[in-house]
Amino acid sequence: MGGKYSYWLEQAFFQKNSQLFEDKNYKRFIKEMIHTNLECVRINLNMEGKVWSCCPKNWKSFSSSCYFFSTDAKSWNSSQENCSRMAAHLVVINSKEEQDFLTQNMDKTAAYFVGLSDPEGQGHWQWVDQTPYNQSATFWHPGEPSHSEEHCVIVNHPSISLQWGWNVILCKDRHRSVCEMMKIYL
Ligand code: CA
Repeated sequence: MGGKYSYWLEQAFFQKNSQLFEDKNYKRFIKEMIHTNLECVRINLNMEGKVWSCCPKNWKSFSSSCYFFSTDAKSWNSSQENCSRMAAHLVVINSKEEQDFLTQNMDKTAAYFVGLSDPEGQGHWQWVDQTPYNQSATFWHPGEPSHSEEHCVIVNHPSISLQWGWNVILCKDRHRSVCEMMKIYL
């Protein structure tokens, strides 16, 4: 990557670890990295010999992913582009645990786009990262998915509802969103 995206990693807290700077993967990582601040925790040596698990500053960590909860409202397409610019994608919800993690970090008065849509309006639900749509790991509100002219999915907690769930709405509507990226191992 180049231009405005090739910022230098400046303030990761392990900066003074000179041994890390000798690592060729780390050098390559610095060149490719678009996030200037990382927050890392020490992990047991993993299979690739990495000892740090990192997420960009102000992102949240869960399992092997990092998550960014936006506070501004955009259309589904703009939300996905915004995630892309940060080397991420709209969140792909793979499990009940991930759904619960997300909703614990969401504001009940807002709605959040996720990376699920039905571009043709034919009930062919697609995750942005090509994860197969798995009916057994869906969290639709009762009566959803509905309305064939509405093709994009939000997570929300309507005041009349007792729980969080998925709702299909117009892709051009503007909502908050959640981006997901793989944790960075150094
Ligand atoms: Ca996921």
